[in-house]
Amino acid sequence: MNGRQARNRASGHRARVESALSAVRDAAPELLEERPAEGMELWRKGPAVFALPMLREAYPAELNNAIQTRRRAIFDCCCPCGAVMRVTRGGQTTMRHAGDCPASDEVLAELAAAAGVETRRRDG
Ligand SMILES: [Zn+2]
Repeated sequence: MNGRQARNRASGHRARVESALSAVRDAAPELLEERPAEGMELWRKGPAVFALPMLREAYPAELNNAIQTRRRAIFDCCCPCGAVMRVTRGGQTTMRHAGDCPASDEVLAELAAAAGVETRRRDG
């Protein structure tokens, strides 16, 4: 493969990623399934499906606020912490939140553990 072919291939990949991202961004979120036993909901947004933690009255406000921030970030495809949704080479969506962002895996897991809520780690 020469340089131009490599660049064309890379820009083809970028174009596919951009169109996948805009399809996710433009789509309205649609609730597919509730899994209360797992504390999860499955949402479709365009071509992507996300497993999101459920809000619960029994949770402390801090945990519900963090869950709400996480859900908003997924629905908006960006987060107040500056994280933006990206699509990996494998076609998975990913968001890298700031370390102290309440929507990050780490902070959510800490808040859940502090509240005695069992969580299963999931991507998304
Ligand atoms: Zn964030």
